[in-house]
Amino acid sequence: MPEREYANTILIVDDSAVNRMLLCKIFANEYNTLQASNGVEALRILREYPNIDAMLLDIMMPKMDGYAVLEAMQKNPSFKDISVVVDTSADDTETQIKVLDLGAVDVLVKPFNPMVVQHRIRNIIMRREAGKQALQNALLTEQIHLLETDEKTGIYTRRAFVKRTGEMIRKDTEHTYVLIRWDIDRFKVLNDAFGMHAGAQYLKEVGVELKQKMAKGTTYGHLEADRFIVCMQQNKEKETAFIKAIETAVVRFLPSFKCVVRFGLYVINDPNVDVSLMCDRAQMALRSTKNNYSKNVAYYDDSMRTKMIEQQEIASEMEAALADGQFVPYFQPQYIYDKNQLHGAEALVRWIHPVKGVVSPAAFIPVFESNGFITVLDEYIWEQACRYQRKWLDEGIAIRPVSVNISRRDIYEPKLVSILTGLLKKYDLPVEYLRLEITESAYMDDSDQIISVVKQFRECGFAIEMDDFGSGYSSLNTLWKLPVDLLKLDMNFLSDGVHDDSRGVNILSSVVRMANWMHLPVLAEGVETKEQADYLKSINCLFMQGYYFAKPMPAKAYEKILMDSSEHDLIHSMELGKHDDSLSITAESALLKNAEKGAAIIEFDGKNIEILRMNDRFFEELGTTREEYMGKQLHVLDRLEEESRPLYLGAINRAIKSCKEETSEIRSLPFHENGKCFTTMNRFRLLAKSGNRFIIYVGVERV
Ligand code: C2E
Ligand code: CA
Ligand code: CA
Repeated sequence: MPEREYANTILIVDDSAVNRMLLCKIFANEYNTLQASNGVEALRILREYPNIDAMLLDIMMPKMDGYAVLEAMQKNPSFKDISVVVDTSADDTETQIKVLDLGAVDVLVKPFNPMVVQHRIRNIIMRREAGKQALQNALLTEQIHLLETDEKTGIYTRRAFVKRTGEMIRKDTEHTYVLIRWDIDRFKVLNDAFGMHAGAQYLKEVGVELKQKMAKGTTYGHLEADRFIVCMQQNKEKETAFIKAIETAVVRFLPSFKCVVRFGLYVINDPNVDVSLMCDRAQMALRSTKNNYSKNVAYYDDSMRTKMIEQQEIASEMEAALADGQFVPYFQPQYIYDKNQLHGAEALVRWIHPVKGVVSPAAFIPVFESNGFITVLDEYIWEQACRYQRKWLDEGIAIRPVSVNISRRDIYEPKLVSILTGLLKKYDLPVEYLRLEITESAYMDDSDQIISVVKQFRECGFAIEMDDFGSGYSSLNTLWKLPVDLLKLDMNFLSDGVHDDSRGVNILSSVVRMANWMHLPVLAEGVETKEQADYLKSINCLFMQGYYFAKPMPAKAYEKILMDSSEHDLIHSMELGKHDDSLSITAESALLKNAEKGAAIIEFDGKNIEILRMNDRFFEELGTTREEYMGKQLHVLDRLEEESRPLYLGAINRAIKSCKEETSEIRSLPFHENGKCFTTMNRFRLLAKSGNRFIIYVGVERV
């Protein structure tokens, strides 16, 4: 073997040393050359040197001729890529066809023209090289594709997305790009709810959707779990349209899985930032919407990064702070306004930080809620509240109920109920002195879980208060069925203040009215002015908490308020609502007041009507009985003559708009086979509104 200096090697097989020398000379400047003087030697060299690209083969040779060499080569697959050019002095077609049949790629007839030989061989080798290269490219592309494609979704993996996006945005200096990433809430429970493969199926479908829908000049990939990301040119309208399309697709893929899709966007102002960092920032934006029911899309801004650093700091200090007693309960008094009585207090945690001073829970509760520490802290605050109640009792101070906050995370703590009953036992505290606040939005997370927990609490005697009522989307209809003992309404939701005609006031008064229908006392919190307090009183909301009365305060200060309150008004606040005359306008009594007419309360969501409650007279007016009417509440419109249906809906819509009584004469279908259609006069009046659901009072009278 000569020293390899060229890329290609050719083997020259000829029994004539002169021929071999001649050929070697022709090729010596271009290829590595090897020589064999007969077929046997040729095959040996072929086996020995696997890198031979081409062979010039003489036909007539001693020992083993060219034909035999070609036949042997055909049988050995490792020789199949070697291009064989036969050189022969026999200028007959038969020989030429025979060798071509045996796999030779070309035939040269002696005597040679050296230039022609050189060109032929060069062409053959070049063609061969090009073919090899094309094959290699195809293999490489396939391999890259496999490496870059995520198995579950068929689209880019995280790594590939980062790489490809980087290439795309750095090449295109004309446009600004934006990253949009998204995931769905409660993805982990998807398989539990819909069977083993639901999650996997979902991921696949999103992958297919993206492949079909994404235009050129975008990249998209699957990051992990249910997290997807795309990169596209910045354009507000297109971004919004894209978000809409994804939401629609998710609903289509998971029709019966009630879920929120959350989006985080990052506008790429500097394409040289590491793309994976950009992805993290989009995630920060996304995370900023978690637990928010009214917002599911956010753009990244730098304050989010600062916030995250702060949050990490908080998380790193929390355990030591708890052990060090830096978390303390503050108490904010609650009053019964018209009686000027202390009703109780809410325990609110404060972090007395050695450097930062008093830190508001708004800064750390969300962090603890996401890292789970909240359950530890809450238990500590509950215990502190019980401990103070016991201490005051022991000191002969007349105590009032204290409400403690139960975080949405606590609901999933299996020992939750026994932890709280255990505390009552440990501090020998009657259950009336500890009330539990659960935020309305927790009811939305997993209403089955929460209803079951709340039921257990109530069986143990705890009063349950629904915190932040009105902030979420709780259907008034579900509220009807939820086990709660009091609604807490935050005045801060009334951003437009207490003016007679403001929207907020309308909502507030109708919620209070509705709560009264349902025997539910309402406590307004965040009451800051006398004007607000008076207004609340005028609409029959008498329990209040807010800066107008007192700010949250340390135990010592609250203790003083307890001692200053006279003993005798204690009984009143103990059984909240039940002994209070002003709150006894219950649904039944109000309906009974109109006993001479039929009355019902319906819920309308813009499309469907459901009857929630009706009085006895209602059935009389319709010529039916309560028993017979059962099961028909959901199909109110079906009970009407076709032409009357739009009239009924029209009157409801007018009542919603005008907030006044609206009437309509309606023809109903008979309840019995031989009965006749009949006409009733219906009076509609809006009672309450939440989101796009309306509670409406309907008076019904036979005409
Ligand atoms: P929240 O349960 O709705 O508590 C009421 C918040 O309103 C308290 O904020 C209170 O200080 C504030 N507030 C009271 N009166 C007024 C007023 O007249 N005007 C205004 N603008 N605000 C008023 P705070 O203490 O900062 O607590 C914020 C939230 O942190 C609480 O909202 C609650 O969700 C949570 N939180 C507080 N302590 C605890 C706790 O021990 N455990 C849990 N899980 N959450 C807690
Ligand atoms: Ca609360
Ligand atoms: Ca609240």
